[in-house]
Amino acid sequence: MVAGNWKMNGNIELAKQMMDTLNGANLTDVDVLVCPPFPFISAFNSLKGAIGGQNLSEFDSGAHTGEVSGSMLKSVGCDFVLVGHSERRTDNGESDKLVAEKVSVALKHGLTPVLCVGEPESVRDSGEFFNHIQAQIEAVINVIGIDDFDNIVVAYEPVWAIGTGKTASPLQAQEVHAFIREYLRKLNADIANGLRILYGGSVKAANANELFSQPDVDGGLIGGASLDPQEFLNICLAAKG
Ligand code: PEP
Repeated sequence: MVAGNWKMNGNIELAKQMMDTLNGANLTDVDVLVCPPFPFISAFNSLKGAIGGQNLSEFDSGAHTGEVSGSMLKSVGCDFVLVGHSERRTDNGESDKLVAEKVSVALKHGLTPVLCVGEPESVRDSGEFFNHIQAQIEAVINVIGIDDFDNIVVAYEPVWAIGTGKTASPLQAQEVHAFIREYLRKLNADIANGLRILYGGSVKAANANELFSQPDVDGGLIGGASLDPQEFLNICLAAKG
C-alpha cells in the first residue's frame, strides 16, 4: 500500500493532475491512498484508489469550529484517515490518549485509521525508541483492544526522517516494523501477521524499492514526494514490485 499525505499543500489543479496521472496508470496490484487537504477531497471522487482525511475530530458533531468529523469524511468518499501524524502530535498537542480516542471514533464511522507512530531524534539517540513506539501503540490497544487492529493500518514514521531528507535505512525501518509486528503477535498472531505496516520519512522513487522490499515493510506513507504526480506514481509502481 502507498499513501500520499499532502499535508497543507497543493491546490485544485494539482488534485486534477494527480488523479489523471494515477488513473492513467496500471496500478491494479497496489493499494493507493491519497490524503489531500479537506477542500480537495471531492476532487478525487473518481480516483481509482482510496481517499483519506489527514485528521478527524474526536467529536461527532456540534460546537467545534474548524473540526471535521468522521461521518463527514465518510460522506465525501473517504475510506481512510490519518491519525496521530507527528505534525498533529507536535503542532496540536495530540496526546497518545487523544490519538487512541480518534482511532476509536474513526472505526466507529467505518473509516480505516492509518495510525502514525514514531520517535523524535532525541529518543532515537537515547536508544529508547522501541519503548516509545510500544507506548504509542499500547495507548491505542488500551482503548480499542487488539481485535480491531485488523481494521487498522500502522505507519512507522521516525520524526527525524519526516521532511528532512534523512531516510531511515532499510534495516532501521525493518528493525522497527519487525518489533511492532512481534509485539502485536504476542496479543494476536493472526492480526499481527495480516497487519499492514507502512514506512514514512523522506521516501522517494529512488529509495522506495529498497525500503519496500524489507520483509515487514508493507508500503509507504509519503509526504513531500506525494505532491509530484509522476514521482508519486513511480513510488506506487515500486510497491507493485
Ligand atoms: C509524512 O508527511 O507523513 C512524511 C512521511 O513526509 P515526508 O515523506 O516528506 O518525509
